[in-house]
Order: sequence, then C-alpha cells, then structure tokens
Amino acid sequence: MRVVVTGGAGFLGSHLCERLLADGHEVVCVDNFITGRSEHVDMLAGSSSRFSFQHADVSSGVFVDGVVDAVLHFASPASPVDYLMHPIPTLKVGALGTHNTLGLAKAKGARYLLASTSEVYGDPQVHPQPETYWGHVNPIGPRGVYDEAKRYAEAMTMAYHRTHGLDTRIVRIFNTYGPRMRPADGRAIPEFISAALDGAAIPVHGDGSQTRSFCYVTDEIQGFIRLLASSQHDPVNIGNPIEMTVLEMAQLIIKLTGSSSSIEFLPRPVDDPNVRRPDITRARTLLGWEPQVAPEEGIARTIEWFRTQRG
Ligand code: NAD
Repeated sequence: MRVVVTGGAGFLGSHLCERLLADGHEVVCVDNFITGRSEHVDMLAGSSSRFSFQHADVSSGVFVDGVVDAVLHFASPASPVDYLMHPIPTLKVGALGTHNTLGLAKAKGARYLLASTSEVYGDPQVHPQPETYWGHVNPIGPRGVYDEAKRYAEAMTMAYHRTHGLDTRIVRIFNTYGPRMRPADGRAIPEFISAALDGAAIPVHGDGSQTRSFCYVTDEIQGFIRLLASSQHDPVNIGNPIEMTVLEMAQLIIKLTGSSSSIEFLPRPVDDPNVRRPDITRARTLLGWEPQVAPEEGIARTIEWFRTQRG
C-alpha cells in the first residue's frame, strides 16, 4: 500500500511509519513539527527509500500526488503540556486537519483511520469505559480544546462514512508509552523516568490515587494495524486494561531505575480524570487483539531507552 501518515514525526506516528515500512508499504509522512522531531524523520528516511516527507500544516491543506491507498490521521498535539500551550492549533488540527485528510482520502478512494483518544470519555462516570459510553467532557475547560477537537473529529469521520461511503476507522487510544517520548512532554511516564534518572523529586499530581491504564507502544501499534486491516467502522478502544494508580506507577519507576528520588505531591490539573481503563472486549472479539507487554517489562525497556539517550 501507499500510506499517508500525518503526524509521522511524533511519538506514535514515527513508530507507526517504522512498522508500515517494515511491513513493505510505501509511507508519505506529513508533519509541521509543532510537537514532532526532525530526528524521527531523518531516522525513517535513512532506513528506507520507500519513505518520503512533506513539511506541511494539515490544518491548512494536504496535497499528495499519485496513488494513495490509506490515510492515517495522527497529527495533533497530544500531551496536556503541548495542547495547553497550543490550544487553537489543537482545535484546528482536530477540526480542519480532519476535514482536509478526509477530503484527501475521498479524492483518492483511500481507506481512512482517525487517531482518536480515551479523552473523548472525559472524567468518566462509567468504569471501565466501553466504546458505547458517550463520555463526560467539560467543553469550556482548558482540556476541552483537545477533548472536543477529537469528539468533533470522530463526528466528522462518521459523517464522511455515512454521507460519502468512505471506508473509515476510528481508534480510541489510551495512554501509551515507550521509546521516543520527549523527556519534558509533560506526560507522567517520561516525566517520572527523567526525574528518577536525575535523582530529582518525582512530581505526582494530587495524592496520586487517580488511575491510568498504560499501554506499551508496540502493542498499541499492533492494534492500529489490526484495525486498519478490519472492516470495523465504529470506534475501537486500543489500550491496556491493567489499571494502576499514578502513585503506583511512580513507585514502579523508582524501583526499576534504582533511584533514591522522593515523591513530590503537586496540585491536580483542572478536569484531570479520576479513573481511566479501557473495556477492550471489542478489540479482543473483532480484532483478536490484546496487549502482550507487561508494565514492568515495558517500563524497563523505556527506562533503558531514556538512559541510552542521555549517553
Ligand atoms: P506527538 O505530539 O508526539 O505527535 C503528534 C505529531 O503531529 C507531531 O509530530 C506534530 O508535529 C504533528 N502535528 C500536530 N499538528 C499538526 C499539523 N497541524 N500539521 C501537521 N502535523 C502536525 O503525539 P503522539 O503521542 O504521537 O500522538 C499522536 C496521535 O495519537 C495524536 O492524534 C494523539 O491525539 C493520539 N493519541 C495519543 C495518545 C498517547 O498516549 N500517546 C493517547 C491518545 C491519543
């Protein structure tokens, strides 16, 4: 296939491009580096002649010559630090970027996959979260710029499917971690590992009793590939149902790094979800997918990568 990946210079996008190239596909990556890294593009370009790159803001338009078999829309700031710093570009890439990439898929007769998020469930009142849950989102709170952009993106994707018969997929991605996350991107795992390796205090929001379900990146990518190959148009949760408190994650990272760091308790951000855990019945039954990498193993691999990066 010839596949367009928007956001391919980012954390998930770069792993996705790498996997598609390994599977023998041609990849056209489109990114504006608002949160992505040129090193990822250089690495991908160096690894395969089937990789090409376009520097473009997909909210302004996306134009790709020639045959396109699939459009995978991953462009969007994703960490709270990033989307709070770029609220309007985040809304635009979820709205205009999604519209433009759907238009590209329609013009090319290509399959389409939208990277959505568990944040469409907001601070959930149903636990764990099945795809049938409509969510509990504050549209006007600071996080609304991300959550509502993705909810709009899902609505637009379903409208293209229903109105134009576009062959669409929607993946609701739960917290994912692994190599290539930026140390200071504000997400818990890179933040905790960086602090632990520095011997600095680990910043835990609130009392750390809020829960998250963290999925290792290779498992997550395998879920995307299975979904793309399926004919499932309704959203599918892809995430690891092993739920832990944020404090437990901080303690695991202290243990696995052998760090002497203490834990520093900071105020909770506004509208921070209290619980988060995917119901993956749909992914299990329709895609035959479930995560394979245990948290201890995934965290150990990620720590190793952060250590290597620091030389
Ligand atoms: P990331 O910030 O590492 O990557 C996003 C990429 O999109 C970056 O390379 C950035 O430069 C690019 N981008 C943003 N706006 C753009 C625009 N207008 N035009 C072109 N490129 C643009 O984030 P990530 O963690 O890799 O997330 C990728 C996707 O997965 C996002 O859509 C995100 O919402 C979704 N997601 C990620 C997670 C997670 O845990 N990582 C969870 C849920 C959803």
